[in-house]
Amino acid sequence: MIKMVDIIMYVAPFGVFALIAATVSEFGFDILQTLIWYAATVIIGLLFHQFFVLGTLVKVFSGISPLKFFRGIREVMLIAFSSSSSAATLPVNMECCEKNLGIPKHITSFVLPLGATINMDGTAMYQAVATVFIAQVYGIELHISQQLIILLMALLASVGTAPVPGVGIIMLIIVLRSVNVPEEGIALILGVDRFLDMCRTVVNVSGDSAVAAIIAKSEGVLKIGNNK
Ligand code: ASP
Repeated sequence: MIKMVDIIMYVAPFGVFALIAATVSEFGFDILQTLIWYAATVIIGLLFHQFFVLGTLVKVFSGISPLKFFRGIREVMLIAFSSSSSAATLPVNMECCEKNLGIPKHITSFVLPLGATINMDGTAMYQAVATVFIAQVYGIELHISQQLIILLMALLASVGTAPVPGVGIIMLIIVLRSVNVPEEGIALILGVDRFLDMCRTVVNVSGDSAVAAIIAKSEGVLKIGNNK
């Protein structure tokens, strides 16, 4: 299997090039500029969720200041960014949550492994943006009911996404199918997916740490939650 994956990874860049070449020949070179806008939209959404939504949730429900929280999980974010894998980041996440945020082991050892597997807020957001983007490229209009289906399906697909690199884009097929957007559109975004995978994994693992802090507080076992 390892040899087979090695071979596939070796030819993958050529395959992606061929897919992008086919897309550019169909839609023209402008599509590449559009792709930059797509990536920027995903990144802005992730930044907003990471620092505003998670920061506020942590402050309101656990009493930890957002600055202290993000400082405490700095290493976790770095490893998630470089490995693109929530599973690979799990041990570091457990250690940082226990040592830096004062969350007891019995909370981290339940919440974080569960969160790493099913809680992928970054991936869900990315899948929703990607679906809307691909629909727009193909000129498909999405009504409000379809947009709600995208929300629901992105949530479910992200729960089913394995915590390893690149699975989010495979699960995207489910979301695209649910609103009849052509799956070939994935070829369009494949080229920029690695970087977006790195970014969304940071949000995925930070969401897990935030929930662990909130649960610890609600159980009354957060040790240093009120230190600013
Ligand atoms: N790489 C992501 C994670 O491990 C999953 C994905 O969106 O591909 O959290």
